[in-house]
Amino acid sequence: MVDAAINHSAIEVASPEGRPSDYFGAKVFSGATMRKYLDKKTFETLSDTMKNGTPLTREVADSIAAGMRQWALEHGADHYTHWFQPLTGGTAEKHDAFAQPDGFGGVIEEFSGKLLVQQEPDASSFPNGGIRNTFEARGYSAWDPTSPAFIVDTTLCIPTVFIAYTGEALDYKVPLLRSISAVDKAATEVCRYFDRNVEKVHTYLGWEQEYFLVDESLWAVRPDLMLTGRTLMGHESAKNQQLEDHYFGAIPTRVMAFMKELEYECLKLGIPVKTRHNEVAPNQFELAPVYEEANLANDHNQLLMTIMDKTARRHHFRVLLHEKPFKGINGSGKHNNWSLGTDTGVNLMSPGKTASENLQFITFLVNVISAVYKHNGLLKAAVMSATNDHRLGANEAPPAIISTFLGTQVSAVLDKLAAAKGDNAIRFDAKGVFKMSGISHIPTLLRDNTDRNRTSPFAFTGNRFEFRAAGASDNCAEAIITLNTALADELTMFKAEVDAKIESGTKKEKAIYEVLKRKIKECNPIRFDGNGYSEEWRAEAARRGLDCETSTPLIFDRYLDPATIDMFARTGVYTAIELEARTGVKWETYVKKIQIEGRVLGDLVMNQIIPTASAYEAMLLDKVYKMAQIPGLNASSDIALIKRIQEHTAAIQQLTEEMIEARKRANRIEEMRAKAIAYHDTVACFFDKIRHHVDKLEEIVDDRLWPLPKYRELLFLR
Ligand code: ADP
Ligand code: MG
Repeated sequence: MVDAAINHSAIEVASPEGRPSDYFGAKVFSGATMRKYLDKKTFETLSDTMKNGTPLTREVADSIAAGMRQWALEHGADHYTHWFQPLTGGTAEKHDAFAQPDGFGGVIEEFSGKLLVQQEPDASSFPNGGIRNTFEARGYSAWDPTSPAFIVDTTLCIPTVFIAYTGEALDYKVPLLRSISAVDKAATEVCRYFDRNVEKVHTYLGWEQEYFLVDESLWAVRPDLMLTGRTLMGHESAKNQQLEDHYFGAIPTRVMAFMKELEYECLKLGIPVKTRHNEVAPNQFELAPVYEEANLANDHNQLLMTIMDKTARRHHFRVLLHEKPFKGINGSGKHNNWSLGTDTGVNLMSPGKTASENLQFITFLVNVISAVYKHNGLLKAAVMSATNDHRLGANEAPPAIISTFLGTQVSAVLDKLAAAKGDNAIRFDAKGVFKMSGISHIPTLLRDNTDRNRTSPFAFTGNRFEFRAAGASDNCAEAIITLNTALADELTMFKAEVDAKIESGTKKEKAIYEVLKRKIKECNPIRFDGNGYSEEWRAEAARRGLDCETSTPLIFDRYLDPATIDMFARTGVYTAIELEARTGVKWETYVKKIQIEGRVLGDLVMNQIIPTASAYEAMLLDKVYKMAQIPGLNASSDIALIKRIQEHTAAIQQLTEEMIEARKRANRIEEMRAKAIAYHDTVACFFDKIRHHVDKLEEIVDDRLWPLPKYRELLFLR
């Protein structure tokens, strides 16, 4: 019945004109476009700003704005907006028209340097964790020239940072940029042990976006999907992912039409999308671009999520970016592939050809795992949320314990280095060229290294680390900020230690080796190549002292640990005030999400499930009553069914009342952390209990009466 509501035919996609190379970046005010629209001097000044962060003068800003306006108007834009990433998740924009009254009864298209560079959005309704009190409710957005402007529909979008008047970050971009610069500074200094020519180290990010698609007509009659992004109830479909027939399977025609249009839109916006495939769960898919500099990559991911939603609607789909929209099948993550590279073209997370290059590689590798070890709880906090909570540790995604997977080969190299007695691992040949046993053969080993460990939250994959714990709806910045900062801090301490040894007469390579050797031993507990899903690992991780907390509100405490506050302060990425404010926002967001889920669940069971079950029960009662009129008929199985319905509806009503009471009690708590804990411990725990009874009813109530589309209807797009 419900199935008939779906229009299964694919929507025709206007096929792109030409090849990707013809239209890639057509809607971006890229370097090549700038060169055309800006005079030589302006272009050079802007290039310098993009590279070195030199401030722009008002005059130059005016010239850039004039060029940008001309390009935008020629490409059909009539509005412009500062585009930023507030702590709500997602992006914010407020469109203003270029057209301005000219004072003579007409209009002219205006866009000044002032409007380009800075605006003051009335931002008092964005989350700020109390940074902006009532006296200073304004925030301002300021252009980030390192990420190019672009056009969506008919609006010129200017990527901006979003800051409080008192200077604190109110978005994801400011701390991301700060962390990129912190790791650049620390990593460049360490690189200079190996190559004096290195002047800059870039952070790279390649995200993989997983998502679900559902038919819009079914979505529209599932209030839980509409309002919370996940199904709060629904019995498992008889067939789900057990045949493993979806992963890399043929993409359904309707979905393919959507993907093609999405990719076309992405390419025009300069997002270098590359890979598309079906994921493990039915209706689950993945899209991945080629990696880019992290700030740009993150803007592109934010943009992608918006474009995905718009494109899906045109195809009568809805995109679900929730980390766990359906019970019993896989959830969606967003793997963050992360690496560092020098301006001399060296990937610092890839083995090289010489012993020196490999010592550099090992230096970065060891500092990364050491940083992850020290801040494993914080890294978990960076990807934790009310929504990702359902995915982590659910036996299909990484567990809610952070560990690193290095693969047998790299592990063996580290163990060998750490175990070498005295200076046995290190020597210099007749010409004084440094040699180190154990690391010269890394590249050859890695080529054959097909080790893949899907259960690890943080895996080394040959030339990058893959942080897999991040959720599908996350802003990648949160993970990258934490990784960059922890590594920057680690590298700075590493360098201080090595320098001290060099000063007291130790040879550079030997000094590096000695510090690395100690670190390898110290961070041993974070290394785990086994099965992250196993029960034994949970016990083992606790023994090793890794963070095993599973309550989301308590995990957020890691942001306010003295070690965290010190690290962020030392590196200049967050002040203590910013950390406090942002953690406050995390607790508040958690409360709101659970509150909404609780309300939706309460409404659904009382307004739809109980009445439906009662209607069916009444039909059965009527039948039993009539049967009693005819001698010899046995109504015992109908009576048993009525009893089962009774039990479930009574339990649902009882539990729902208790949940509402618990919510009321939690709502009276003022302090945000305590409130979040109350929501976690006393409200959210009712959801699965209530659901259990609803799902049982779904199994026995007449299908024609059941008001919600079932999993089997939601999950199999053709
Ligand atoms: P898999 O599913 O095997 O992890 P994918 O091809 O789906 O691989 O995604 C890999 C992602 O990693 C892509 O976005 C790719 O561009 C990115 N990537 C590859 N090399 C690097 C690197 N050195 N630094 C950062 N990201 C990288
Ligand atoms: Mg991957």
